[in-house]
Amino acid sequence: MARHLITSAIPYINGIKHLGNLVGSQLQADLYARYLRGRGHEVMFICATDEHGTPAELAAAKAGKPVADYCAEMHDVQAAIAGGFRLSFDHFGRSSSPQNRALTQHFAKVLADQGLIREVTEKQMYSVTDGRFLPDRYIEGTCPNCGFESARGDQCDNCTKQLDPVDLINPRSVISGSTDLEMRETKHLFLRQSAMKDKLAAWIDSKTDWPVLSTSIAKKWLFDGEGLQDRGITRDLSWGVPAQFDGAPWQGMDGKVFYVWFDAPIEYIAGTQEWAEKTGGDWARWWRLDQGAGDVTYTQFMGKDNVPFHTLSFPSTILGSAEPWKLVDYIKSFNYLNYDGGQFSTSRGRGVFMDQALGILPSDYWRWWLLSHAPESADAEFTWENFQASVNKDLADVLGNLVSRVTKFCNSKFGTEVPAAVVMTERETALMAQFREGLAAYEKAMDEIHVRRAAEELRALWVLGNEYLQAAAPWSVVKTDEEAARGIIAFALHLIRLYAVLSRPFIPDAAQAIMASLDCEDWAWPEDLDAALTVLPAGHAFTVPENLFRKITDEEREDWAKRFAGRRE
Ligand SMILES: [Zn+2]
Repeated sequence: MARHLITSAIPYINGIKHLGNLVGSQLQADLYARYLRGRGHEVMFICATDEHGTPAELAAAKAGKPVADYCAEMHDVQAAIAGGFRLSFDHFGRSSSPQNRALTQHFAKVLADQGLIREVTEKQMYSVTDGRFLPDRYIEGTCPNCGFESARGDQCDNCTKQLDPVDLINPRSVISGSTDLEMRETKHLFLRQSAMKDKLAAWIDSKTDWPVLSTSIAKKWLFDGEGLQDRGITRDLSWGVPAQFDGAPWQGMDGKVFYVWFDAPIEYIAGTQEWAEKTGGDWARWWRLDQGAGDVTYTQFMGKDNVPFHTLSFPSTILGSAEPWKLVDYIKSFNYLNYDGGQFSTSRGRGVFMDQALGILPSDYWRWWLLSHAPESADAEFTWENFQASVNKDLADVLGNLVSRVTKFCNSKFGTEVPAAVVMTERETALMAQFREGLAAYEKAMDEIHVRRAAEELRALWVLGNEYLQAAAPWSVVKTDEEAARGIIAFALHLIRLYAVLSRPFIPDAAQAIMASLDCEDWAWPEDLDAALTVLPAGHAFTVPENLFRKITDEEREDWAKRFAGRRE
């Protein structure tokens, strides 16, 4: 048994996420966590909501709520939806927790002790009316490029040009609408990532087993242009971890908070501390090399846009602290999922959002499609045709149909008891040889976190069972040799149990339904396949399950395609 720490990039708090976000990292992290638990390993799987920063403040203002209340509510909403998709976090934390506040301030202090923080004075837009500095997103004005009147300080949403607030024509405060703005000096803390460049480069170079997507993005940031730059880690905001605190090695940072990208990854650790407080568990044995974390394997899951922060910024925090924190061992990153010929769009309501998805079909349907089409080596695209075909063929025709045929046939001929012990004829022996090979390929793909390949290997195992049943044809055999037919069905029932165990990481609800109908709670991974064929003794009672999966009709497909096409602008 090994110990595995798994984290998924933490979703931002403002609003419900779409399926592209779900398959950005959380779902694959869940698959891996479930697989490792299934193999008997000790797993700590942490995720959280990312709650600080300007977008949360703006979303709260729009909702007419205090930002802390807004975040608390949205955290509960996201936690409930994550539960609906069966994301099996050991803890789903909050980056606004007291634990994260203390830990973020601790890291800032020790980084300063190590000479890795410098103070920088720069000029920033100040609103006299609002009495505060305005982050870029708090400033709107006319785009100098296209004339759009509601361009933001950082970007024009109309022509997508990247902007600087001073570029805007007639800039105004988003908070009050005031145009009484002026440039004033303000002080910020910068993390001296440039001083960490050689250490980070050597560390990245040592990760020869990482996906190219992870290392290539890291190297681009390390070496392109002038190389890795120092990064501002504070902002003029009130919602966040205060940058001025007792014992801080600097003065004059009142009214400023740490930048959301500094505190968010620290929440992986703080989230584990939240878990420890809730359960009485020991967080340090997962994170502190001086307190037992030396034998932990730490895997991070994320979308490609998060790779720079996880390969450079967060490691700068960890390595720069010179304290014995656990550093990530493997970074699994993903490309983007697109939606039906375009992109998912939160603002335009284009694509399927997580709550809507659960409103029309159970989570297993989505889990199976999203995982078997994970945007692994390139961007992937969701289409309703593909979704319908995949659900109807893989889930309904292959796995669902096998379970249904075997249990119904047994019920009609022999009743709802396992009709015999397994008898190994040449056919079963040959099948098991193929199964053993396929299982090894499945395990290898899962061990290496090749998500799409793992789905293919699992499906291939399901197909083997179907082919076996078709060739063994117990419905014909029973007419001349009832004993042989009983043996075939006993063997097939054992295959079905194996499918429940092996499929559980992908489709946990269906796996549970199969095991419930078999009245079996033996979820042991088939390390010994021969032993796995003796789990259900002759005479063991079962019930015929409801259809595991239903088919998606053409009418539904067309209806949903229309419904989720997005609002016109
Ligand atoms: Zn523009």
